[in-house]
Amino acid sequence: MDYSSKIARHVASIPRSGIRDFFELVQGRDDVISLGVGEPDFVTPWHIREAAIYSLEKGQTTYTSNLGLLSLRKSISKYVSGFFEIDYNPANEILVTVGVSEAIDVALRALLNPGDEVIYHEPCYVSYSPSIVMAHGKAVAVQTTKDDGFSLKPEALEKAITPNSRVLMLNFPTNPTGAVASYEDLEGIAKLAVKHDLIVLADEIYCELRYDGLKHISIASLPGMKERTVLMHGFSKAFAMTGFRLGYACAPQPIIEAMMKIHQFSMLCAPIMSQNAAIEALENGAPQVEIMRDSYHQRRDFMVRRFNEIGLDCHTPGGAFYVFPDIRKTGLTSKEFAFGLLESENVAAVPGGAFGPSGEGFLRCCYATGMDDLRSAMDSIGRFVSKI
Ligand code: PLP
Repeated sequence: MDYSSKIARHVASIPRSGIRDFFELVQGRDDVISLGVGEPDFVTPWHIREAAIYSLEKGQTTYTSNLGLLSLRKSISKYVSGFFEIDYNPANEILVTVGVSEAIDVALRALLNPGDEVIYHEPCYVSYSPSIVMAHGKAVAVQTTKDDGFSLKPEALEKAITPNSRVLMLNFPTNPTGAVASYEDLEGIAKLAVKHDLIVLADEIYCELRYDGLKHISIASLPGMKERTVLMHGFSKAFAMTGFRLGYACAPQPIIEAMMKIHQFSMLCAPIMSQNAAIEALENGAPQVEIMRDSYHQRRDFMVRRFNEIGLDCHTPGGAFYVFPDIRKTGLTSKEFAFGLLESENVAAVPGGAFGPSGEGFLRCCYATGMDDLRSAMDSIGRFVSKI
């Protein structure tokens, strides 16, 4: 059978992820130090795992409300109010999702009509462009640069806005660059969102992992922005809960209602064991988050220092757990560099080009890896670069 004619055209048009090709090579090799996967090396703190176990022990193994357990939504509301200083009504302004991944998907499907344009800053998380296409939208990337710390500048955003622009996606701190946005830039971006009547999807998944003692600010907290922002957050990164598959979206009631319809008919609800664990994370998880953040902070400083010593210029990312060194002076493409490094030194890192054309010439290294492995990986990268 000719399956190519059976696959929906918009799905067939989505290229395979550059990361997937690369990691198929790494899979099954235990001689490789991986700086590749964006996942905490910490196991979920025990008290959170215990809450999931209690959920099972107590026989709490059922569906929940489509929106998520009300007790969890109340905890989310309290946490978001404390962390972001924005108040959401747990009754109808919060939707519990299967990871931020699902929040992104249902938000885009709830907001877009076919052909609507969605603007996002690039390099960015690999799912953004495909998620937009799967929601029948048109992906419009705004390139960011090392000179601007990979942050989105309002002037660059304005140039990308057209009468068809409907949604703006923001992710600070950013995967893959660790970029953060200044308050002034957020203000400028917010003014443009109001002026051009854009809905903003704010992916805040790395917001607790902000370094140098600086407080994270969400665009949703700026004047006039709560009513046009979907704040998306989850438990995967700061709480080291990737396998629990839990996230949430906070937004005005009509948007949550529209997202809930899609969630209800596609997912029904997020797993109850994960929801119970998430309540424990929000209520009692802060000390562990702080310990993990301090450890990432130390590793960030180490990685930035070592890359610059090796001669690969590396900006200091303000958050997340990635560094994004500039490898252009080696004369290699990011793919050649990453494959060469894997072949000759058994170190895996992701070619920057996998995150969009503006990531070309860079390498994404995730430092959510033990210090011994990071030291050894950096010695290997130094050796590899000196041989080029
Ligand atoms: N958004 C960004 C920017 C990410 O980096 C990731 C995962 O790496 C996700 C969303 C997906 O997170 P979740 O595990 O909550 O689905």
